[in-house]
Order: sequence, then structure tokens, then C-alpha cells
Amino acid sequence: MKNPSIRFTSPRRLRIPGGGGQPAFTVRLHQKASRLIALIETRTAVITSVTVTRHAHRWYASVLCTVHQHIPDQPTRRQRVAGRVGVDLGVKHRLALTGPLTLIPGQDPLTLIGKPHHLEATERKLVRAERQMSRRRVTGTKQQSKGYQEAKDRVAKLKARLAMHRATNLHLISKRLVQQYSEVALETLHVKGMTRSAKGTVDKPGRNVRAKAGLNRAILEASLTEFNRQIEYKARWHAVDIIRVPNWFPSSRLCSNCGWKDTTQTLKDRTFRCKECTMALDRDINAARNIKEHAVPVQ
Ligand SMILES: [Zn+2]
Repeated sequence: MKNPSIRFTSPRRLRIPGGGGQPAFTVRLHQKASRLIALIETRTAVITSVTVTRHAHRWYASVLCTVHQHIPDQPTRRQRVAGRVGVDLGVKHRLALTGPLTLIPGQDPLTLIGKPHHLEATERKLVRAERQMSRRRVTGTKQQSKGYQEAKDRVAKLKARLAMHRATNLHLISKRLVQQYSEVALETLHVKGMTRSAKGTVDKPGRNVRAKAGLNRAILEASLTEFNRQIEYKARWHAVDIIRVPNWFPSSRLCSNCGWKDTTQTLKDRTFRCKECTMALDRDINAARNIKEHAVPVQ
């Protein structure tokens, strides 16, 4: 389907033309598409195609556009003043930075970015819904009760919502980093190495630990891959250099102040304590400082 046959008839209505025996139809949008419409009206964006899909309880219209964008050949003044930031992508979705990051204009800048509250709340709801689903399941038969179906639908809805919130959150962070700094120092993505550290976060082994660790690990690895993908392409839009430390680099074991190496520390220690210079610092911030200091350009 080609532009201009796909068009917004109002900020909330998207007209999708017919074709291949299908009649044309209009979809009503959950949110206003004002920003996209403004881009289209100024000819900054041109709609190429639209894909309508369904995930759990919702329909999604994904509008693919060709966008004309000015790519700067050097960072802005603000970026240059801020310079380089070291980023530690830790376990449990915690992001530690060597400098402040303003996520939402007007709010306090952060150096430690945890999981947003709404994400945690949805995760808790999902755990409850999954428990309910398994309680209602009748084993040894294909015929399941209405209550089971309802619980299953609820699980699907929550999973879809979680996936959307996670993606939005990663997009926000990766965007702010490249807007506010001229160089971003990261660890080289090494998914296999993450497997071991994910295990180390499970403090109390219980019945479902194996399954839970598996799930958390899968989500964590997917998030890390996605974050790295996003920041790489966004860096090009803002003339930002991505630099990295090699994946064997012991960023969480070195003292960022004097270089002393801790060989006994476990992932449970939230604070890095140096036995050489007596520095005590949040473990992840210490790692971020090491990454900032030792990262080099990648070809
Ligand atoms: Zn030290």
C-alpha cells in the first residue's frame, strides 16, 4: 500500500485503503497520532506502508515511514560539555551512569536508573495471574474450564503490556543518553557471560527458582540486545561515538579510584569496598566508572 492512499483523516483516525479483495477501512486509534501527522504535513515523513497486527487484546497499526532527517556531523554544545558517560547495564534492569541523565524534562536527573514502578506493578500482576492460571488448569484433558480461559487471556494481556512498557522504557533511556552526551561507553554485549550473573542474583533458592531464573535471564538478555541495538542506531543520529570495553574486562571487580582488583567479591555486595584506598562506592557506579575509563572505539 502506498502513500497517499494511507492517511490520517483525524488525529485519531487512520484510513487504510482496500486492495486484494479487501474493502477500505478506518481504524480508530487509542492515542492521538499528532506528532506523526505533523511530520507528514511538513513532508518530513512520508508513509510507505502500514501493517495491522493483533497481540493479545489489542490491535496495532504500525506505520512505516520514510523520514527525512538532518544528521549532524558533530555533537551539540550541550553534548560536548557533558562529554563521555560510562554506562553499566546491570542485573535486575539497573542502569548505573557516571553522570546525570534527565529522563523526563523537569524531573531530577539520575545516575542510577531502576525499573519503573508501573513495570514492577505489572510484573507482580503477571505473577499472580500465572499462578491463578495454573491453579485452574485441569491436567490430563484438553477440555479446559471457562475460568482457565479467562486467566489465560489475562496472562496474555499482561505479557503484551509488559513487552510494550519495557520497549518504551529502553527507547527513552537510549534516546536520552545520545541526546545528552557526546560519547557513550558500554560493555561489549556478551550474552553467554550474563547467564552466570543472572544465577548469582537468586538469593533464596525455592521451588520455582529454575524456571524463574530462566525467564528473568531470557528477558534480561533480550533487553540488553535491544538496548544495544537502539543505542547504536540512535548514536548515528546525534553524532555520538559508542565506545566499549572488551567482554572479559572485569569492570565490577576493579577499584575505579586506584585500580585494586577484588577477587573475593560476589554479586550480593551492593557496595564496592576497596581494601587498598578504602573507597566505598555503589557497585554499579564503580563499574560504570571503570567502563568510562577503559572503553575504546570499536571498528
Ligand atoms: Zn582503591
